[in-house]
Amino acid sequence: MLISVVIPLLNEADSLSELYARLNKVLNDLSFEYEIIFIDDGSSDNSWGTIKSLKKTHPEIKAIRFSKNYGKSQALHAGFNLAKGEIVFTMDADLQDSPEEIPEMISVLQDNNLDILSGWKKKRYDSILFKNLPSKLFNFAARKTSGLKLHDFNCGLKAYKKEVIKSIDVKGEMHRYIPVLAKNEGFTRIDEKPVKHQARKFGQTKFGAERFINGFLDLVSLWFFSRFGKRPMHFFGALGVLMFVIGLLSAIYIGASKLYKLYHGLPNILVVDNPFFYIALTSMIIGVQLFLAGFIGELILNNQSSKFRYNISEKI
Ligand code: UDP
Ligand code: MG
Repeated sequence: MLISVVIPLLNEADSLSELYARLNKVLNDLSFEYEIIFIDDGSSDNSWGTIKSLKKTHPEIKAIRFSKNYGKSQALHAGFNLAKGEIVFTMDADLQDSPEEIPEMISVLQDNNLDILSGWKKKRYDSILFKNLPSKLFNFAARKTSGLKLHDFNCGLKAYKKEVIKSIDVKGEMHRYIPVLAKNEGFTRIDEKPVKHQARKFGQTKFGAERFINGFLDLVSLWFFSRFGKRPMHFFGALGVLMFVIGLLSAIYIGASKLYKLYHGLPNILVVDNPFFYIALTSMIIGVQLFLAGFIGELILNNQSSKFRYNISEKI
């Protein structure tokens, strides 16, 4: 059996030698073959130089260098494309995840015939205010919207069965919610295991405050896709029709009552002086707009091609 370890990295030169040495030791002690796949996501430090010199003495290394920084999700996507293992691990390059967890994770994945075994940073060594608290909130929201009972969706250390990584399409910033992507593709045997977490030794986190809003927006899209599949028309179209019908019925009511009052000579106001007329009109216009939004969403999704997502400048 072949084990692949996929490692996305951005400016982690200082960690790579230690990471590789520890990985190598752990994997050598196992009876499996292995490949280690580094994806340099546009580093500007010496990460690529370090990988190239490691490769000279360790041919089991494969590596891709992106032409610029495309983000962790695209790096994982490229790594998943390359991976050939029956079991595929992902791991951060900054030594916060421990390679020493791998053997135990292989056993748990196999013994329970899981699709994904996700690491759970039960005791997490990151900033409480900027990492731990917001991530608790995100994990709570992800649990509620996905129905998956995980504590730590975004742990960098995960073990996958090959079929899973070949079926899911990690893009945008979706690396945060890979278990949900997998569940949406029908891979529901997902569990987690507490893993050791370390404080960052070198450099700093690559995810600043913008991840709050990105994380939230992605969660909304994920909820949307798991609820409606790739059919925006089923959501926006239905909402649009509903708004339009409400507006239309109100307009008919306003018109009919006007005619009734005219016919019976009752006190009457001009249609344009009736505030409800504007509510009815606005509702109809919004209805048409929502319908068209759904229609355009549907057109885009059906014509979408994912071939141009990142550029690879070197591959070794
Ligand atoms: N990373 C990446 N591309 C990016 C940002 C991060 O490949 O655009 C890598 C990074 O080098 C590390 C992993 O993704 O190996 C996790 O990033 P980081 O440690 O900054 O996240 P945190 O642990 O702070 O959540
Ligand atoms: Mg980290």
